Amino acid sequence: MTHKVLVLAGDGIGPEIVAEARKVLEALRRGFGLAVELEEGLVGGAAIDATGTPLPEATLRLAREADAVLLGAVGGPKWDDLPSERRPEKGLLGLRGGLGLFANLRPAVLYPELAAASTLRAEVVAGLDMLIVRELTGGIYFGEPRGIRTRPDGVREGVNTMVYSEPEIERIARVAFEAARRRGRRVCSVDKANVLEVSALWREVVTRVAADYPDVELAHMYVDNAAMQLVRAPRQFDVMVTGNLFGDILSDCAAMLTGSIGMLPSASLDAAGKGMYEPIHGSAPDIAGRGVANPLATILSVAMMLRHSLGEGELAGRVEAAVREVLAAGLRTPDIDGGEGTRRVGTKEMGDAVAAA
Ligand code: ATP
Ligand code: MG
Repeated sequence: MTHKVLVLAGDGIGPEIVAEARKVLEALRRGFGLAVELEEGLVGGAAIDATGTPLPEATLRLAREADAVLLGAVGGPKWDDLPSERRPEKGLLGLRGGLGLFANLRPAVLYPELAAASTLRAEVVAGLDMLIVRELTGGIYFGEPRGIRTRPDGVREGVNTMVYSEPEIERIARVAFEAARRRGRRVCSVDKANVLEVSALWREVVTRVAADYPDVELAHMYVDNAAMQLVRAPRQFDVMVTGNLFGDILSDCAAMLTGSIGMLPSASLDAAGKGMYEPIHGSAPDIAGRGVANPLATILSVAMMLRHSLGEGELAGRVEAAVREVLAAGLRTPDIDGGEGTRRVGTKEMGDAVAAA
């Protein structure tokens, strides 16, 4: 069966890093007979420029027809002055919502070669291998009412609303517990139950779901403590499950523990395992077009796609092994500059090396 993959390069460094991911898919096709058919679509600023909207109907249709979506990144200063409804980021949110991608999986893995690039001492992060499961289609990023309004006394106020329903909490909790079964069998649920009612419900529902997974250990943590623990002793975590806003912040924090935001992939899954795969970093307008962006997060996103949506776990392992091989050989993009015994390379050279490996 031929896998159908929709490729959305997006903006900034998006096209540069996606080109390298395509090289890797091409290498798998040539070397291992991977049957994959790539389609291309527009999203974000590129789509605004071409069609006036960040998520054209055609892109959503192609995404629905595909087995998986590979995305670069969206956004940039060029579109920053647009009203929020028409911003490039709306394209991403629209895809996540439109495809029902409620579960965001973000592994944070420390590659031994990059320990020196971590913001923490090597002995604190050595062996770090955790997974953040972030709820992606609910919470304060989507809740109503929202907006900027003017009170009767003339004072303006900004409003957003954090809402989670029981079914929303239950399904993301199940994703976390299932993932924990394939890993270290520990789940830490992060909330702010001492202040927020939505978090009190979150805690109650996660605890209820845990009863179905007696083989998995559940702990709860307030988000402020979780942030502290992440930078104090990150290896205590196996799977961390949390809502949209807290997960956004904590996963960027976890990213830096591993050395570079340029190394970390993500998967966003629906209930049936279809997914969108993208690096966790943004479009990095400050380095776009210079050929220095690290393509490894996008290449590792391809590995996650192979494993979670295409049923090609064996090839996923080969991609991950190839990434380890080029790191061990000393290749480094500037964001993971490694000092002695390493060689600085650009985006293309890194992609070529992984494809060759
Ligand atoms: P977004 O809101 O889209 O997440 P952001 O404002 O968080 O974007 P990023 O685009 O992720 O920002 O960039 C943050 C910093 O990390 C920038 O200095 C950028 O150059 C750097 N960076 C991001 N991705 C990469 C990459 N693949 N390789 C090297 N540096 C990167
Ligand atoms: Mg960001």
